[in-house]
Amino acid sequence: MSISNADADDLFFSSDIGKRLVEAALATNEATATSLKTFNNVEPIECVTLISDDSDTELSPKRKIPQAGGAVKKYAADEDSNDAQLTADERRTSRRIKPKVDYTNKSNVQNSEEKPATPSGVQAVGTSSSTTEKKLENKPKKTETSRSPFPKEITDPREAAAAAAEAYKEILTGLEGAAFQSRLPFDKMTSNEAACFPDITKTGLVAQRVFLNIRNRLLQMWIENPKQQLVLEQVLKDMEPPFDSDPNLVKRIHSFLERHGFINFGIFTRIRQLPMKKLGKVIVIGAGISGLAAAQQLQQFGMDVIVLEARDRVGGRIATFRKNSYIADLGAMVVTGVWGNPMTILSKQIGMEMVPIRQACPLFGAGGKPVPKHKDDMVEREFNRLLESASYLSHQLDFNYAGNTPVSLGQALEWIIKLQEKAVKDKQVQHLTQVCEIQKAIIENQTKISEVLESIHKLKSLHSKLLDTRPTRNGEADTTFMEHEFELRAADYEWTKAYKQYEELLKEDELLQMKLKELEANPPSDVYLSSKDRQILDWHFANLEFANATPLSNLSLKHWDQDDDFEFIGNHTTVRNGYSCVPIALTEALDIRINTAVKVIKYFPTGVEIVTENVKTNNSLVTYKADLVLCTLTLGVLKIATAKVQSQQANTVKFVPPLPDWKQQAIQRLGFGNLNKVVLCFDRIFWDPNTNLFGHVGSTTSSRGELFLFWSISSSPVLLALVAGQSAAIMENVSDDVIVGRCIAVLKGIFGNGSVPQPKETVVTRWRADPWARGSYSFVSVGSSGSDYDLLAAPVIPPNPTNPNPNQELDELPRLFFAGEHTIRNYPATVHGAFLSGLREAGRIADYYLGYPEGTPPDIGYSVIEAANSASVGDTVDLVDIVNSCSSSSKNSDDKCSPNDCHE
Ligand SMILES: Cc1cc2nc3c(=O)[nH]c(=O)nc-3n(C[C@H](O)[C@H](O)[C@H](O)COP(=O)(O)OP(=O)(O)OC[C@H]3O[C@@H](n4cnc5c(N)ncnc54)[C@H](O)[C@@H]3O)c2cc1C
Repeated sequence: MSISNADADDLFFSSDIGKRLVEAALATNEATATSLKTFNNVEPIECVTLISDDSDTELSPKRKIPQAGGAVKKYAADEDSNDAQLTADERRTSRRIKPKVDYTNKSNVQNSEEKPATPSGVQAVGTSSSTTEKKLENKPKKTETSRSPFPKEITDPREAAAAAAEAYKEILTGLEGAAFQSRLPFDKMTSNEAACFPDITKTGLVAQRVFLNIRNRLLQMWIENPKQQLVLEQVLKDMEPPFDSDPNLVKRIHSFLERHGFINFGIFTRIRQLPMKKLGKVIVIGAGISGLAAAQQLQQFGMDVIVLEARDRVGGRIATFRKNSYIADLGAMVVTGVWGNPMTILSKQIGMEMVPIRQACPLFGAGGKPVPKHKDDMVEREFNRLLESASYLSHQLDFNYAGNTPVSLGQALEWIIKLQEKAVKDKQVQHLTQVCEIQKAIIENQTKISEVLESIHKLKSLHSKLLDTRPTRNGEADTTFMEHEFELRAADYEWTKAYKQYEELLKEDELLQMKLKELEANPPSDVYLSSKDRQILDWHFANLEFANATPLSNLSLKHWDQDDDFEFIGNHTTVRNGYSCVPIALTEALDIRINTAVKVIKYFPTGVEIVTENVKTNNSLVTYKADLVLCTLTLGVLKIATAKVQSQQANTVKFVPPLPDWKQQAIQRLGFGNLNKVVLCFDRIFWDPNTNLFGHVGSTTSSRGELFLFWSISSSPVLLALVAGQSAAIMENVSDDVIVGRCIAVLKGIFGNGSVPQPKETVVTRWRADPWARGSYSFVSVGSSGSDYDLLAAPVIPPNPTNPNPNQELDELPRLFFAGEHTIRNYPATVHGAFLSGLREAGRIADYYLGYPEGTPPDIGYSVIEAANSASVGDTVDLVDIVNSCSSSSKNSDDKCSPNDCHE
């Protein structure tokens, strides 16, 4: 059976799918919880029942508030599980953080490949080495009701940052901390490492242990002082025993870490000058963070690099508005989690003023009145439960297709809401049926009472009559007397019995009346969501649409949060002096041609030619030639470049020859969303200066994303309003004046007419219309999955016309490489992801064009393709537990095996 998106809604109650959905919804319902306990041996989620009313007053005591923290239970292991549990407020402030249920039972996890636990998605296996995993569980759990991960009394964000650092101190220091902050498993080699050090993996566990000790020590040396280049000569001088036992291995690991962007990345004091002799020429298209990161690396590796940028500035989707004392980020704004984030290293190298975000986010209703706390909390819990149910549908019931059509997150959520509404109606019917049954029982009982009363009356008169006619006894054998006496006693007996029955019936009547009263006094709620509750729920949906930059109906139910396991822990911070300080710093010593729009990318077996147009003069076409090109064009720009119908839009890019089908299909499948901001600069602060955020609840579902969240993060009086979901696209066609007018009206509704002055400066973004972006950032759309990020990252080998068999690729070099936030499966849609993708591609290009990292013995000959592919996926190899094997020779497995001891 196949159901199209449009009719799936109507069909689902009558179809098989409907039955399965009902099953899922019932699994969320208390009443049937026990009956479903056996299903797949999983415990059902607790009832998703919101007690809804439209009042803004406190709850009536009769109404039951769902238990805080009761919603999430552990389920059987699930391959798409999420370890990153977050507080409600983290969710509100984060672009990337999306709530998801933790279906894993970590203690039962057996398969390390399935259960990523460290930031790089790898699983520590050893007993004593599992500290990273355990400590990760210190992360605030989603079910915690506290709005901030820190104790209430800490209000200063800097204090909060210190508290967070303290909380994670153990995993953030020492060798383990160095690996953790580099997104590497402390006690395992990654598959990239295994591919690049086949001699080590073959030699055995002791050699691997030596490798890990040296690698972690090098990482530690870099993290301790990232302002200065970590040169090998200095390392060999400073490295203390036992790490210095094998200088050649130290050299190899050092150059491996440098090649793959784990050390010596960003902006630092160079001890060794850049190589004078250039080895190969690279063109980097785009001076966004990914292009700049790659260009810096490639230059460091000794390649000749030119960066071509269409805008008159660098940074791409990192763009800061600066005027007078006003600063506001129009694109990226938040560093989402600091530990493991390469932005943390950059912040130490350049002047990034990182300020943790205060998590509190009061909500204001559609009319401007504050949303009462109990209501805010209750709807937020309900929102979480709905997401949990959606996750249950996807991961436990595998309800990811309706017929042949993949299901979206939005569809699943609306279905669950419908089922909840149905469940409320069912409860009402159940309640009325119970009332009817009791009323029927009362009537039946009362009929019995009158029958028994009637028989009592009859027996009483019979008894009196028999008493009155009682004969005197004429001797022992007087049978008439005996018969009369028998009748009299029988009547007496029957009368007493009937009376007892009467009393019992009266008691039963009393009991039934009580039951009836109780039922009538406690009717079930008559609606699942009142209109006001739905508005607040829509605010949460808008927040999720902001995180994903698209309406929920576009997100793949199964894969929308595929990158959740890779979220960084620690504070979410903003860059107070504006995020653009990062790309600007990364321009150091680079040859960047701004105002240079790429029109044609020609690639062939011997090199590339890039045709450009000067955006300022619009006439001078210039062709650049190089050995290879790194393309960091946004996914939006790539979509237009590979559209089936050739775009009439200006500034489109052409690939010659066209990109291979697999690449084009992935480009079209993956989603590229939209998110806009309105910057309002005032002459004074009229909002609570102690909050960084406040929410505005929209009045309709379709307008839920319109100006739904306001940010105040600048030290000057600047507010930043967000436009997400469907509204992001709609508002792109509305004039600035109208949009600013709407903002002011919303603010007046909240703070009062007299309190809100006219803004001095305003900016409205339109990222979809921006010809060099064509949207905001990528998302996993319906029909797509995380693998599409890998396909987008894969380099392209040009077709060779001299190849007699075009289906069989010759062993030729790729000439076309790709980086950008849309090419990194584990960290998509973020600045850090884009940055890491740049480091990854620089490493890959150098591997292909410059050969193996320095020190690699010529006889090793590892596969560049294998190494590069494993770098992009980031899995660990399935090695035998290193720590366990070492612990047999060392009492305390935390005491590292000395490289000397362990050397074979
Ligand atoms: C509104 C918004 C809010 C965001 N918020 C956050 C956040 O809080 N935290 C976070 O981590 N991330 C955030 N992001 C995402 C983040 O900004 C991006 O993931 C990241 O900046 C992408 O970097 P990139 O190098 O992949 O692409 P880009 O920065 O877009 O770089 C691509 C470059 O290519 C150039 N280009 C395009 N076409 C051509 C052409 N024909 N010729 C030459 N050059 C061309 C562009 O001008 C651009 O400079 C946000 C993005 C937006 C839009």
